[in-house]
Amino acid sequence: MTTPRRDLLAYTLPELVDLLAMYTQPAFRAKQIYRQLYVNLVDDIQQMTDLPLALRSELAQHHAIGSLTYVRTVSADNQMTHKALFQLPTGEQIESVLMLYPDRATVCVSTQAGCAMGCTFCATGRLGLLRNLESHHIVEQVVWARRTLRSLQPSTAHTAPTQADASGDDWWGNDGGHPDALPQHLGNVVFMGMGEPFANYDRWWKAVECLHDPNGINIGARGLTVSTVGLVPGIKKLADAPYPINLAISLHAPNDALRSSMMPVNDRWNVDELLATTRAYITKTNRRVSFEYVLLQGQNDTPELAAELADKLQGMLCHVNLIPWNPVPGMPLGRSERQRVVAFQRVLQDAHVACTVRVERGMSIAAACGQLAGSVITGP
Ligand code: SAH
Ligand code: SF4
Repeated sequence: MTTPRRDLLAYTLPELVDLLAMYTQPAFRAKQIYRQLYVNLVDDIQQMTDLPLALRSELAQHHAIGSLTYVRTVSADNQMTHKALFQLPTGEQIESVLMLYPDRATVCVSTQAGCAMGCTFCATGRLGLLRNLESHHIVEQVVWARRTLRSLQPSTAHTAPTQADASGDDWWGNDGGHPDALPQHLGNVVFMGMGEPFANYDRWWKAVECLHDPNGINIGARGLTVSTVGLVPGIKKLADAPYPINLAISLHAPNDALRSSMMPVNDRWNVDELLATTRAYITKTNRRVSFEYVLLQGQNDTPELAAELADKLQGMLCHVNLIPWNPVPGMPLGRSERQRVVAFQRVLQDAHVACTVRVERGMSIAAACGQLAGSVITGP
C-alpha cells in the first residue's frame, strides 16, 4: 500500500524550512516554495520552476498540493458569484462562495463540514456536525478563490470555471455588477460558510495566520471577518488575538425566549451574557462589532422587537446587519417582505443604532447565507 502524499498547504513556513532541511536544502528554498503556493498559486510541484529539478522530483514523491477534490462550480449574478463544491479526503462535502464586486472580491469559506449548533433556520445546521476542517482545508478554499479570480481576468479568461448561470436578482436591486469590471485582488475573506468557526477555534486561527502572512496570501486583518453564533469563550479568546480581524455576531433576536426558540446555543450563553461579553470585547479592543440579524417574516421582524433590540444595543460601538432570510427547502419559515425590513431598519436608525441591509448574492444557486449544505449541487 502506498502512503498518501502530504499536502504542502499543511505546512507553515517554519515547518517548510524544517522539511527542506531534511532534503539538505537551505531555508530560502522554503520561502520559494511558499511563494509558489500562495503567490504564484501553482497546483503542481513540477511548476515550481525556480527549484532544481531533482528537488521537485524528490518532493513530489511524498507531497502534493491540496487535499480537497474539486467537484464543480456554479455561477450566478451575471458571473459575479461563483459557488464551488469540494469533497474532503474523508468524503464529506463543503462549499465556498466567491463574490466579485467592481472594486473588491470576497470569498466566503467553510470552517466545518456541517455544524452542531442546530439553528432552526439554517441549511448547514440541519446536517449536524460532520467534521472539523483542518486549517489547510480552510486555506485551500481561499487558494481556489484566488486561482478562480486570476482565471477570470480578461487576459487569461480561457478557462472560467463556470458551468451554469442561474442568474436571478432579488428585490434588493442587486444587479450583480458586470463581468467586465473585475477586481484584480482578493482582499476579503469572511468565515461565514458552513460551520461555526469558534467551535473549531485553533484550526481556524491557524488558517487565519496563514492567510494574513505577508510572505504568502497577505490579507490584512481588516479584510478578515469571522462570524460566530455567539460562543462566548471564542469571543473572549479573540479579544486577545494579536491582530484586529473583524467580528460579526449572529444575534437574530433581542430576548431569550425568542432567541432560544431559534438558536439552541442561547440556552448555554444567553442574550445578556453574550452582550456583556461583546461589550467587554469592544472595551478591550476598541473595535466595532457587527450584529447579524436574520429577518423571518412574522417571527422576529416586528417594530416592537426592533425597539427592544435598539434598547439592548444602546451606546455600543456596533452595527446591525439585517439579512432577510434565504429560503431553505422544507423549512416552514418566511422571508420578511421588503416593507417590514425597511420598517425594522428605520426603528433602529431612529434610535441611533447603525443598521444596513445585506445585499444578497447567489440566492438562485443556494449560495446565499445559510443555504450551504453541500448536497445542493447534483451531478449533470
Ligand atoms: N456559524 C456562524 C457562521 C456561519 S453562518 C454563524 O452562525 O454566525 C453565517 C450567517 O448566516 C449567520 O449570521 C447565520 O445566522 C446566517 N444564516 C443562517 N441561515 C440563514 C438563512 N437561511 N438565511 C439568511 N441567513 C442565514
Ligand atoms: Fe451553524 Fe451558523 Fe448555521 Fe447556526 S447559523 S447552524 S451556527 S452554520
